[in-house]
Amino acid sequence: MAYISLYRKYRPKSFAEVVGQEVVVKILKNSITNNKIGHAYIFSGPRGTGKTSIAKIFSKAVNCLSNKDGDLCGKCDVCKLNFDDEIDIIEIDAASNNGVDEIREIRNNVKLMPSHLKYKVYIIDEVHMLSTSAFNALLKTLEEPPKNIIFILATTEFNKIPATVVSRCQKFDFKKLTNKQIIDRLKYILKKEEKKLDDEVIELISNLSDGGMRDAINMLDQVLSLEKDIITVDDVYYLVGDTSEETIFNLLDNIISGDIKELLKCINILYEEGKNFVNISDRLQMLIRNIIIFCNTKKYFTKEYEEKLSKYSNIEIDLLLKLSEEIFKLINDIKKTTNQKIIMEIYSIKMTLLFRNIEKEEKKEIKQEEIIEKKIEKEIETSEESNQMKDIKINNALSAANKELKEEFLNKYIILNEYVSNKEYNSLANLLLKAIPEVVSNKNIIFTFKNKLEIVLFDKNEEDIQKFLKKIYGKNYSIVAITNEEWLKIREEYISNTKKGIKYEYIEEKLKSKNAKKNTELENTVEDLFGEELIKVD
Ligand SMILES: [Zn+2]
Repeated sequence: MAYISLYRKYRPKSFAEVVGQEVVVKILKNSITNNKIGHAYIFSGPRGTGKTSIAKIFSKAVNCLSNKDGDLCGKCDVCKLNFDDEIDIIEIDAASNNGVDEIREIRNNVKLMPSHLKYKVYIIDEVHMLSTSAFNALLKTLEEPPKNIIFILATTEFNKIPATVVSRCQKFDFKKLTNKQIIDRLKYILKKEEKKLDDEVIELISNLSDGGMRDAINMLDQVLSLEKDIITVDDVYYLVGDTSEETIFNLLDNIISGDIKELLKCINILYEEGKNFVNISDRLQMLIRNIIIFCNTKKYFTKEYEEKLSKYSNIEIDLLLKLSEEIFKLINDIKKTTNQKIIMEIYSIKMTLLFRNIEKEEKKEIKQEEIIEKKIEKEIETSEESNQMKDIKINNALSAANKELKEEFLNKYIILNEYVSNKEYNSLANLLLKAIPEVVSNKNIIFTFKNKLEIVLFDKNEEDIQKFLKKIYGKNYSIVAITNEEWLKIREEYISNTKKGIKYEYIEEKLKSKNAKKNTELENTVEDLFGEELIKVD
């Protein structure tokens, strides 16, 4: 016996068997019961949501000799008909028949009455693919609808259908199916087929099919055809050409450990394999979601999967939520760009920053840091002159702050990573990677750091950083670094001043503050604690 695909085998054969689309089914059934059948319908909605299946059921139901509440009786001659043999139910795929000729032929044919059924039904799939002249030909037919002829125009891209055609049709919106609807259907099919699959695998198939039942069932078909004793999620990923689960875990591990080199390597491999970064970001988001669920409730996933998740259980929930927020932004941005790789890289590195400070705390250097903090405090207080200079620079940056310039600046920030292993620039690149460029204008940049220690390093190396930035951006920026906390206050003040109409005017920046002076006592301490490489001595 020839193999029948699961999709064909389990395609609904009556309205009662249809999963989802309750509104559409109800209205269509009512129109049959009340004998108020239109002559043209548009079925619009995502792929695999049942448009053609329902069109076929409807075309039989209108012809059923003793229909029950608008559904097929299942017993009469019409209900027993084979679609392929029925000359009064005609299916046209506009994607392959987009010529005017086919529609002209329809125009000629529809002049004829149905050969033996009550209604002759034309189902035109992917109708948006018709050429303009074909649409015009179709429109002529719709303008003078022949009696007892029904047109069902199915489309995934409703907006491509001319308004003149739309206005002559009754429109039905098909919705994506819910995960539950798909999972239930897959389980039903598995039961009928006497096959078993892990819940994890079924759930994954449902997620990947994105609300399309056809895709879900076809995927199930493929998975079962592997004829393996145990089918894992990776088998599914493999089949759909998606990245393995291990790779997604790897990506997250590198983000957490802050191993940027390894992270970029990982992204590059995915890029070279031609993987889709939208999918990868979705998968990463799903993994974070699963970790959050796992942290809050046990036994939600399979035992094996929970074992994999358990190594993340000590991550703070706040941090996971922040991570999730970043991935959410990533997914949004990555869809808008043609260069997905770069966006993936920038965001991944940004995400490592979330974990960097945590790591430091874990190193239990708190005591030493406290000592440094105090010394830094003292240092900052004593350098009144440089404080004034900082204020001027902050003022100047704010006076011409520009979102687009900032965006441009950030887009290029990724290049810093190329210098992470460069002997000459590695310490500067590493330092800048810990900074967030908060304000960018044509001439000025305000960077923020989480720790004051980094600001001391920044100030100390200001001139070199300027040169380094010039190398990357080709511009001489006047730069200033402050702590996150300071920035929050300044920003608040800036917002309230702007609201009051107070303007920030550019102030001439007179010559550099003290730069090439010898190491202060503080810097020596820092050097002792963290090694020389961080502090560049001229
Ligand atoms: Zn019937």
